Amino acid sequence: MTIDKFNFAGKKTFVRVDFNVPVDENFNITDDTRIVAAMPTLKKIIADGGRLIIASHMGRPKKNPDPKYSLKYILKHVSECLGVDVKFAEDCAKAQEQVAALKDGEALLLENVRFYAEEEGKPRGIEKEDPAYDAAKKELKAAQKEFAKTLASYADVYVNDAFGTAHRKHATTAVMADFFDADHKMFGYLMEKEVVAVEKVLNNSVKPVTAIIGGSKVSSKITIIENLLQKVDNLVIIGGMAYTFVLAKGGKVGNSLCEPDQVDVALAVLKKAEELGVKIVLPVDCLAADNFDNNANTQVVDNNNVPDGWEGMDIGPKSAALMAGVIESSKTILWNGPAGVFEFSNFQAGTKAIATAVANATAKNGAFSLVGGGDSVSAVKQFGFADKVSYVSTGGGALLEAIEGKILPGIAAIKG
Ligand code: AMP
Repeated sequence: MTIDKFNFAGKKTFVRVDFNVPVDENFNITDDTRIVAAMPTLKKIIADGGRLIIASHMGRPKKNPDPKYSLKYILKHVSECLGVDVKFAEDCAKAQEQVAALKDGEALLLENVRFYAEEEGKPRGIEKEDPAYDAAKKELKAAQKEFAKTLASYADVYVNDAFGTAHRKHATTAVMADFFDADHKMFGYLMEKEVVAVEKVLNNSVKPVTAIIGGSKVSSKITIIENLLQKVDNLVIIGGMAYTFVLAKGGKVGNSLCEPDQVDVALAVLKKAEELGVKIVLPVDCLAADNFDNNANTQVVDNNNVPDGWEGMDIGPKSAALMAGVIESSKTILWNGPAGVFEFSNFQAGTKAIATAVANATAKNGAFSLVGGGDSVSAVKQFGFADKVSYVSTGGGALLEAIEGKILPGIAAIKG
């Protein structure tokens, strides 16, 4: 089922959202992006005359209740955003009466579902190394099913709009979906957009397809690279991890960030790319610094010959131009990871150049561009490019697992 086609009138609807928003020491919300992002889904259900049950996690509580992670602090803001006086259930697993009292067009926010260890299915207060851990985990998994069943009993329909936790097999993100048939479970608008965007990049892509992968380490991105090699025409490698490739190809990296133990992995990537006909685009020059400092002395040098005592902190102008050419002639683009130490103002030019190229490809070449996963999202936001790309993913870890080619439990639970 899809949310657009469903009429929620009179239906008790359980919506899993991600309201895990940052709050200050007085519990004031400092960034309400996630609350605002869930509104299209919640408003559609209310407008239809549905009976809304909203569930979310907040932080990583260790006990039930753990007051500093209470969702009661965000209740007022959720009500304001939704335009409805949202009620509050102080115990998410004992809300039967409040659910039964809901009238059409009314809404109830459940207390933090992670107050119950059953939500995550991870035993608390016992270390993984403890011999009793496995038995405790098994027991909790059974309890997780019961917890999911209780929550599922509240509702006629289940909607998942929490892409940020789609990679977790938690009670409210995946397990409880089993208690609904295919006509009564669906993605919310936000989750649907994420799923479509990932599909457009990985499986329904228009060629040429270019992936731009940056960031600090090959080791943390290798599963992504291996999966993408099967999917793309061009793989642009930027950021600190490019130096492991430089070393693998016999170049000199100076003091640049580098993982010598990943040289074989880098060589295997290069070989596989050649077999598959994927063009690997590596930086040709870099902006090197004599110290890991924004005010360090700098010089542009050959990326394959970084002098001793210097470290590559950003791609250089020749690399930026070379990569812009590849990016701007692409029809599908996936970007994860910055081109350099973009947190330092003097080493942002490369990341900005990549962002500009992605924006140009989107505007001038009609490319579909997806930016996601941690630092690249902060970079596009910081540099004002967020509305110049096709889609900025809201799910860090979930997006990374999706582009690693993993099946996300939250998606599988609905799509089957
Ligand atoms: P990741 O978390 O793997 O996506 O990496 C992001 C981090 O990589 C950012 O904090 C960047 O500062 C860092 N980074 C990118 N390029 C370099 C570089 N050439 N040298 C050191 N750190 C870098």
